[in-house]
Amino acid sequence: MAESAAQSILSLFLATCTASPQAPFLIAQDGSVLTYAAAFARSAQLAHAFRASGVQPGDRIAVQVEKSQTALLTYLAALQAGAVYLPLNTAYTIGEVRYFLGDAGPSLVLCRPDDEPAMAALCTDLGVSAWLTLDADGTGGTLINAAAGQPETFDSAPAAADGLAAILYTSGTTGRSKGAMLSHANLASNALTLREYWCFTAEDRLLHALPIFHTHGLFVATNVTIAAGAAMIFLPKFDADALVSLMPQASVLMGVPTFYTRLLTHTGFTRELAAGMRLFVSGSAPLSAETHKEFSALTGHAILERYGMTETNMNTSNPYDGLRKPGSVGFPLPGVAVRIADPETATVLPQGEIGGIEVKGPNVFGGYWQMPEKTAQEFRADGFFITGDLGFIDADGYVHIVGRAKDLIIAGGFNIYPAEVEAALDEIPGIAESAVIGVPHADMGEAVVAVVKSTDGALDQAAVLAALKDSLARFKQPRAVVFVEELPRNTMGKVQKALLRETYGTLFSQ
Ligand code: AMP
Repeated sequence: MAESAAQSILSLFLATCTASPQAPFLIAQDGSVLTYAAAFARSAQLAHAFRASGVQPGDRIAVQVEKSQTALLTYLAALQAGAVYLPLNTAYTIGEVRYFLGDAGPSLVLCRPDDEPAMAALCTDLGVSAWLTLDADGTGGTLINAAAGQPETFDSAPAAADGLAAILYTSGTTGRSKGAMLSHANLASNALTLREYWCFTAEDRLLHALPIFHTHGLFVATNVTIAAGAAMIFLPKFDADALVSLMPQASVLMGVPTFYTRLLTHTGFTRELAAGMRLFVSGSAPLSAETHKEFSALTGHAILERYGMTETNMNTSNPYDGLRKPGSVGFPLPGVAVRIADPETATVLPQGEIGGIEVKGPNVFGGYWQMPEKTAQEFRADGFFITGDLGFIDADGYVHIVGRAKDLIIAGGFNIYPAEVEAALDEIPGIAESAVIGVPHADMGEAVVAVVKSTDGALDQAAVLAALKDSLARFKQPRAVVFVEELPRNTMGKVQKALLRETYGTLFSQ
């Protein structure tokens, strides 16, 4: 059973600092270890630096820096200072950052040294009173100077369970990005649930190669590690060679599906190498059933796929013990209610029917920052959050995602779920991966277009369509098959379907 959600990530972190101060928290690529005690001391110094810059409890601290140990410690420092942590994707341009700072009104911005001139001008313009810098390896910058010599303890006030811990902006592929407000209880309850569900202990060594501006790397991986008093082998970025060389020291890998497709093509990734691992977790984007099966065949490990989002932390997971179904995201986590409802009428649908996935639980955020109307639109009256994903629950209780509601294709009045067509395409020998989109079509409203990455030069549209003839109803079959070198994916491995729709939107209207 998960412990009380009244705990916070900080209280879980402090518990290990007290009970096992010499336990490793972060292990660098060269093997050097930062213990829990050292991480506490360094984050306390950073918290003092924040205070000295004017940060008061409840203030937002916006952070756009490269991944490093110190960058991660700024999260713990913000929690110690009672501030609200606001990480920003390192790919955002200064123009995009203007929107986030203007919206969130932080009292401190932490940026890369090279960005300082532009960030300083922006802060002055927006009335943000302080900014500091941190370099890529986390050892230099004005933050480091400000933290030097500060006390190695910080007297934190206990966090209120419903107090704000972080604001994470959604990726905003449709419309403006929204700031999801996550409370201490949201984060702690999910971390404790996942610790139990995935059987984490202090012995675990998690290979961490995800970015830390997103819920997957910042919360799922880090918070579970903290809740278990475990350690992370902390890499600056995904690098298949580094994963292969460090895997013998690790017990768990958390990744996006591209980690797994890349590992599968790495000659050093073998059954023997994976033998010492306890768990491989995948999420943030659909893991194809094909990749799941190939991985099992090579390593003997069934990848554990789970489903979550910025607004909700984790909602469902395949079981630790028991069948991890390829193509499924598993069962609702303990304490999380998942239902499938008609997106228009909100009527709950019978088992097996496709509809909108709605969730409710202690993991679900409180709303969007300063957007009460948008927040109200995305919650049902009984408190369920409308995820915007479409899916169904099978006869065994496993949840399956068939795509985002906005990616649903309606051709000639029929609903076509991209995931179903993608699964059929992925089974065709020579297709490495695929993305299915709807594009405007004069006759049918929308037409199905398959964008595929092929490993077989001889494969052409006719061959793909012939292969689909018996596996998909006629109306679901693509009207065009486009071959690409790579599918456009964002840093979290999600295929950018909006971009594909832009690129191929005029295929049938020229
Ligand atoms: P983000 O807020 O960036 O984490 O994106 C959340 C979205 O990613 C969800 O609403 C889903 O559309 C998608 N997603 C996350 N995990 C999975 C998964 N295991 N399978 C399919 N889609 C997923």
